[in-house]
Amino acid sequence: MAETVLKIENVSKRFGDVEAVRNLSIEIGQTEFFALLGPSGSGKTTLLRIIAGLETPDTGAVIIGGQDMTRQPPYNRGLGMVFQDFLLFPHRTVAENILFPLKMQKAPVETQREQLNWVTNLVHLDGLEERYPYQLSGGQKQRVALARGLVARPALLLLDEPLANLDRELRKEMEVEVRQYQLELEIPFVYITHNQEEALTMCDRMAVMNHGQIEQIGPKLELYSHPVSPFVASFVGSANRLAGVLTENNSIFWCDQEISVSVPQGARAGDSLELYIKSERIEFHNPEMAHENRAFLRGILVDVIFKGQYSDYLVEIAPDKIVVVSAAGEQPLAQRQAEVQISWPIASCDCFLSNT
Ligand code: ATP
Repeated sequence: MAETVLKIENVSKRFGDVEAVRNLSIEIGQTEFFALLGPSGSGKTTLLRIIAGLETPDTGAVIIGGQDMTRQPPYNRGLGMVFQDFLLFPHRTVAENILFPLKMQKAPVETQREQLNWVTNLVHLDGLEERYPYQLSGGQKQRVALARGLVARPALLLLDEPLANLDRELRKEMEVEVRQYQLELEIPFVYITHNQEEALTMCDRMAVMNHGQIEQIGPKLELYSHPVSPFVASFVGSANRLAGVLTENNSIFWCDQEISVSVPQGARAGDSLELYIKSERIEFHNPEMAHENRAFLRGILVDVIFKGQYSDYLVEIAPDKIVVVSAAGEQPLAQRQAEVQISWPIASCDCFLSNT
C-alpha cells in the first residue's frame, strides 16, 4: 500500500448502552478511494465523525499524516468533509459557499481567488459562481459541496453518503465523476455508504462494518469474490441464499433437490450450511454444457426483469422459493412458464457453516 495518510488505532465509542464503534483499526494510503460499507446503525457515521474530530473516541487514536490528532479540533486536522444533505448556506452565492473554509482560515484574498478558480474548474462549476443554491440543480449543489470540501486542498476527503439524495440517473453520473476527482487529486477519499453498488463502482478497497466492527476489509474484488462471512456474502453483490444440511455426498437438499457444495472447512455431514450464489454466476443449463463440477436446480421461469445491459430471470424452484439468474443478451431457453434447469460451478458458490 502507498504511504499511510490515516491510521485509526483501536478506536471505540459508546453512547450509553450502544457500542457504536468497537476496537476498530484501519490504515488508509495516499492514493486510495476507501469505502466504509454497512447497514444503518453499523457505526459508519460515528467512525467518520471520530476521524473528522466531531466526536472524541473513548479509547484509541486517530493519526493523520503521522501526527496524533485524537484530541485536535476539526479545523486543525487538514481534512475536507462532504455531507449527504449538502449543507449549503441558502443566502450565500456558490463562490461564498465554496470559499467558506478558506474564509474561516483567514486565507489571503489572492489565495482564495486562486483556489476558487482551481476548484470550480475541477468540478465544472465555472460561470455559476454568482448563483444562489436555489438556482442550482441537485447535481450542481452536490458539486458545490464537493468544491467546498476540496477548496482548502485537504490531505484527506471524508464523504458521508454524498449522493444519497440524488436521483438514480444523476447518482450514476456523479459516482463516475467523484471517482475521477479522486484519481486526479491523488488524495485519499473515505466514503461511507450503505449502497454496495456505489461502493463497488467507486472504491479501491472497502471495509464492511457490522455492529461497530469490521467484518471484512480488503480490495473490493476480494470482498466480492471471497466473502469471509454470510453477512459480507449477502451484503456485497446480489446473492441467492440457499440453506440445508450437509450430506455424506458433499451436497445439501433444498426444495427436495440435491445441490453439490464445496464443503467449508470444519464442516461435517449433518451440519447446517448456508450457501450464497451470486446471480451472475448462475447459467441456464443445456445438454451441451459441461456437467463436471457444477451444481444444478430445476424450476419454472416465472418472470424476466429487464435491467438494461442485463436481465434478472426469476426461477421458481418451489412455491415462494425464487432463484435469480442475471444474464446479458437474449437467453434461448427463457420463455415465461418454461421448465428450466440452471447450474453454476460448485466452487463459485460461497458456503458457510450456519450459526442457526
Ligand atoms: P446510518 O447509515 O443510519 O447513518 P451508521 O452506520 O452511520 O447508520 P451510526 O450513526 O454511526 O451508524 O450509529 C451507530 C449506533 O450508535 C446506532 O445504534 C446509533 O443509534 C448510535 N448513536 C450514534 N450517535 C449517537 C448519539 N449521539 N447518541 C446516542 N446514540 C448514538
